[in-house]
This record gives sequence, structure tokens and C-alpha cells, in this order.
Amino acid sequence: MEKFDLVIVGGGFSSLVLANALKLKNKKVAIFEKLDRVGKKILSTGNGRGNITNKNLGVEYYHGKNPEFCEYAIKRYDNFAIRSFFSNLGLMFATEDDKIYPASMQANSILDALRFNLENSGIEICLNSEVKGVKKQADDFLIALSNGKEALAKNVVLAFGGSSQKQFGTDGSAFSIAKSLGHSVTKLYPSLVQMRSRDEIIKGLKGIRSNAKVTLLSCGKEIKSTIGDLLFTDSGISGNATFYLSSYLSEVVNPTIRVEFIPEITENRLIDHLLYKKQCFPNLLSSEILNGIIHKQIGKNILKSVSDAKLIKDLSRSEIIKIAKIIKNFDINITGTLGFDYSQVTHGGVLTSEFDNKTFESKIVKNLYGIGELLDIDGDCGGFNLQWAFSSAMCVAENLNAKIK
Ligand SMILES: Cc1cc2nc3c(=O)[nH]c(=O)nc-3n(C[C@H](O)[C@H](O)[C@H](O)COP(=O)(O)OP(=O)(O)OC[C@H]3O[C@@H](n4cnc5c(N)ncnc54)[C@H](O)[C@@H]3O)c2cc1C
Repeated sequence: MEKFDLVIVGGGFSSLVLANALKLKNKKVAIFEKLDRVGKKILSTGNGRGNITNKNLGVEYYHGKNPEFCEYAIKRYDNFAIRSFFSNLGLMFATEDDKIYPASMQANSILDALRFNLENSGIEICLNSEVKGVKKQADDFLIALSNGKEALAKNVVLAFGGSSQKQFGTDGSAFSIAKSLGHSVTKLYPSLVQMRSRDEIIKGLKGIRSNAKVTLLSCGKEIKSTIGDLLFTDSGISGNATFYLSSYLSEVVNPTIRVEFIPEITENRLIDHLLYKKQCFPNLLSSEILNGIIHKQIGKNILKSVSDAKLIKDLSRSEIIKIAKIIKNFDINITGTLGFDYSQVTHGGVLTSEFDNKTFESKIVKNLYGIGELLDIDGDCGGFNLQWAFSSAMCVAENLNAKIK
């Protein structure tokens, strides 16, 4: 049976960063990757453009039972460190709305840089090698693979990712490895994901985009708010604002999304303006009252929900007030999300309190480490998840470079 100084379970972003940062001379290191190639998910990041980090970085962009766990790592290996790391691998960078990408605007540049540099590193990359179990045996770990092979390792880094988008190798089944080693896994939720709604008022709005103030309510109570892009889909809503708020859905009972269109105009000003339009254009079709104020189809749906008046003059004052109120409080009842198959990240994971926040070594099993998305830390949309995977991997690399002599 082959014996390794270090085995990394999973060959995704955090694993490849770690492998690149290792400086272990004459040591046997292997990556076991379940799929037929490493880093498949990286290619889809940032809509294929690879949003690697963000100009703004801080604990406030992260979620989990204890988001502060990530603070040490993201400060020690921050958004400058990630650029310096990839710049040493030959990349240059471009920034768009605070999001940082490779200057090529191609996610495959990130994967290629990570892969090319590993080619002569001596690290064994074992593809089609799903790890089925990891057991501690005296001073070693016994690793069982799906192809029936076994291996021994002195140190193991778990880097198997979350539960999102199983086509990238992450179906959540690997959490059983962490559990079998005595670790606890929180409830998992899809995050950075589209939301579903069956409300009549959003029927026919598919493809319409709006910049609006968007608030998540739980039984009417405000949970979180943002101003951003909202996209109507055939099953509900998407867009950056939806993705951002989806990180908070796990805390919510009976979620409602409240959209405030034209947030820069007050409700009273809007009412005055609509009443003025009634005075000036009484004989226009009633649907014209919202012309130039809100997207035509959204306007039609709002009007339909309030009145069946044919002409503007037939709209009563109270109906006009109601229309203005809906524009400022356009409520969408949320019935769920599109789920893990469509989510960019998994909310929840292995409990961070069971790991050291500087070395990422398990407090339960010596010489076992956990990095990246499998831990109970997930970031907002905008490069924060790759940054977290990077920062945690670099902390482990620093520790292992000092430890394995
Ligand atoms: C469509 C999409 C777009 C995204 N866009 C962005 C973005 O622009 N910016 C950003 O910051 N984040 C983005 N993310 C999130 C980001 O890609 C992940 O958070 C990040 O890749 C996590 O890194 P990781 O190493 O922890 O896990 P992953 O990169 O998911 O890697 C885990 C690896 O482990 C392997 N594996 C799983 N189980 C086993 C096992 N039992 N044995 C062996 N191997 C196993 C998997 O096959 C996989 O290769 C996006 C995610 C998706 C799905």
C-alpha cells in the first residue's frame, strides 16, 4: 500500500492553491480527485470569467454560525495576497464593480495557472479517485478509494467542497468522511441561488431586469436589505440582489421579498405625480398612467391587481394610492429556491469551532485539516468564496511547510 506524507481529499480550488503553496522537498504528496479532471468548478466561476476576489474584504461579507472564524485567514492572506499569488503564476487582473477577475476575463486562466505550475512539482494528482472513507489508525490515516485501492497518509487535508452543483463533483456525500472522523456538520442550505415564487403578480415578467431596493422579510419583519439588480425568471426571481438575500434565507420563516421600485422617489411624490397624470391625460388607457415610471409589463401587472378601469379618468384616487403603494412595496411570496443543483455555494458545513482558525487543524483528530467551502463559512456573491478557499488553503500551507520536514 502506498504511503504519503500528505493526502489532499478533493482537487478543487482550495486544494490546487494549497498544492501550489507547498514547499515540501522529497515528500510524498497526493491529491485524490473524484472527477476525471481537477478544478472543474473553477471554469464556471464568475459566469466563466473567474471572479477571484473583491476590492472590499471583511468578516461582514461572510456567513455561518461563527463568521468571525474566517477573520484571521482573510486578513493574513487577503485580497492583495491572492493577487500576488496569482501574479507569481503569471496572471494580471481587471476590476469591474469592485469584483476582481483575471485580466483575460477567462476563468480557465486561473485553472491553467494552477495546473501548469503543479506539473513538475512531484505532487501526484490521482483522478477518478473518489475517497470513500478516512480512518485514523495509530499515527496514520487509512484512505479508502472507490476503485477499491487504499493508501496511508500521515496528514490529511479535507478539501472536498460543499453540496452545490453536483456536476462539479460536489454532491455533499463527502461530508460523511468528516462525520466518521468525529466532526459535526450543520444543516446545509443552497445559497447564492434563484428564489421560487408562484405569485400571480410576477407572471409574464420573465427576462425583465430592474434596479431596485430589495428587502427580505420573515413573517413581515425586515431581515436584510440591498439595492441592486433584480431579474424576473419563469420560476421566480434572480439577479445579484436575490443572490445576496438568499444567504439569509436559512434564518427565515415564510419569506417575502419586498421590492421598492424607483427607490429615489418617495411614495408621496409618486402619488402626487400619478394624480397629476390623471388630471392631464384622463382619456388615455389606464395602463398608460405608469408609462415612463416603471417597466411597462410590471406596470400592467400592478394595474391589473388593483383595478379593471379602462381609462385613466376611471381610476379612483384610492386606486391610484394603492398603485403607488404597490410600486413602493411590491411583495413577492417566496416558496423556496432552485436548490443545490443551481446554487453557487453551500450555506453550512463542518463546524468551525472544531478547527483551529490559524492552522485549520482539527481539534478532534491530530494531523487532519479542513479548508474551503466544506467548512461552515460561505461568502456573498462577488469573489468572496474563492477568496475564502484561498485564504484557508494558504494558512494550511504555511502550517504544513513548517511542520513537515
Ligand atoms: C456556477 C458557480 C459560479 C461560481 N462563481 C464564483 C465566483 O465568481 N467567485 C467566487 O468567489 N466563488 C464562486 N463560486 C463558488 C466557488 O467556486 C467555490 O466556493 C469554491 O470553488 C470552493 O472551493 P473548494 O476547494 O472548497 O471546493 P471545490 O472547488 O468545489 O472543489 C471540491 C473538489 O472536491 C472533489 N471531491 C468531492 N468529494 C470528493 C471525494 N469524496 N473524493 C475526492 N474528491 C472529491 C470535487 O470533485 C471537487 O473537485 C461559484 C460556484 C459555482 C457553482
